[in-house]
Amino acid sequence: MRCPWCQSTEDKVVDSRVADEGESIRRRRECMNCHRRFTTYERLEDAPLWVIKRSGAKEPFDTAKLTRGIMAATKNSSVSDEQVDRIVQEIKGALKSAGKEVNYSQIGIEVLERLKETDEVAYLRFASVYKNFRDRKDFEHEVGLLLKGAPHDGKQ
Ligand SMILES: [Zn+2]
Repeated sequence: MRCPWCQSTEDKVVDSRVADEGESIRRRRECMNCHRRFTTYERLEDAPLWVIKRSGAKEPFDTAKLTRGIMAATKNSSVSDEQVDRIVQEIKGALKSAGKEVNYSQIGIEVLERLKETDEVAYLRFASVYKNFRDRKDFEHEVGLLLKGAPHDGKQ
């Protein structure tokens, strides 16, 4: 299984357990190269999840791509690799339970909701990339909403 952090294919399983009420087996793996951990799920005839892009084209859901996107936003933040991994798995679970196809925008919203609760800086970084802010105004509007939602203790 390719490591989502360093792309190495050398890993070992450190823990296996039954998940989803017996529907799947969850395995914690440790990369032999970078020693970071990630989770895989084994399911019988795993139904593929399709992502509908802005262009209307479909592509299979890519866990590694989502992990990289969140990692880029959480770089040098308080969010740990374990948290990123958990966020990815949560989002995957949420999307899968919603159906076989998801819109690209749904994934972004799922990420934003979770980052908002986890780390403000990461949230804004992801929002600025994901929402493709065209100008400063959009970004300031988003910051305004965020500050309104979470009262500050004078850090800014
Ligand atoms: Zn690795």
